[in-house]
Amino acid sequence: MSSQTATTPRIALVTGTSSGIGAAVVEHFCQLGHQVLAVDFNPAGKAIAEKAGAAFFEADLTDPEACRAAVADAVKRFGGVDILVNNAGIQHVASIETFPEEKWRQIMDLMLTAPFLLTQAAWPHMREKGWGRIINVASIHAQVASPGKAAYISAKHGMIGLTKTAALEGGEQGITANAVCPAYVKTPLVDNQIADQAKLNNMDEKDVIENIMLKQAAIKRLIEPEEVAQLVGYLASDAAGAVTGSSFNIDLGWTAH
Ligand code: NAD
Repeated sequence: MSSQTATTPRIALVTGTSSGIGAAVVEHFCQLGHQVLAVDFNPAGKAIAEKAGAAFFEADLTDPEACRAAVADAVKRFGGVDILVNNAGIQHVASIETFPEEKWRQIMDLMLTAPFLLTQAAWPHMREKGWGRIINVASIHAQVASPGKAAYISAKHGMIGLTKTAALEGGEQGITANAVCPAYVKTPLVDNQIADQAKLNNMDEKDVIENIMLKQAAIKRLIEPEEVAQLVGYLASDAAGAVTGSSFNIDLGWTAH
């Protein structure tokens, strides 16, 4: 391996790894030589993780004990957590007037409280080594809003606050924290939304992609999960040691308006 591509092997914990962006991050990290614990509530994630060369821990991250158990499993297997990627997420599309309270709470538990609890549990292990990387997979909906996604957008905006606070507290301890903010990525999470958005807006599915999802985009295509994984890989690297407290849009030009 040339010195330009050499990566120090690290221990990584990645959440939401049974499909989409999380699965792509696990594969990329394994290719970089990291030891990876893939965490998901879907047991199908085991085969996906093992195929990539990662270990798997089954956990419903809406449960605080399961968050702590996931970090404990990484510590038991590999001896610590150097890189934490908070990626697990769900979507629910409904107007504020009709938004079910239990969905609001589920989204907050999974997409804001779990990243906090995982960060809290991983922190002492990063501090002990004087090296840590926290990468929060937020969204362009951490920067701007769209109708029909109150809980998701609120959780993602909150994730930026968590990222900035972790960056300030981690600065003297060798721990960086950053967020990535993609626009629409070709994953099951988006596939499911197309039908929901069609119903909400009384449109057909092709119109949803062209006139809602790609309306603000300068580049008229969906993003590939691997493109997001490459950015996560950079933020997790030694090369990104001076980068902290930042949000990186990978948004096809959406927010250039
Ligand atoms: P996805 O549906 O393909 O993957 C989400 C993963 O989270 C799945 O493996 C699922 O099993 C897991 N998960 C869901 N609930 C869980 C729970 N309670 N406990 C543990 N695991 C759980 O979605 P994706 O598009 O790859 O999304 C990954 C992240 O990227 C999410 O946080 C999402 O908000 C964010 N994101 C996605 C897009 C996009 O367009 N796809 C854009 C911006 C941000």
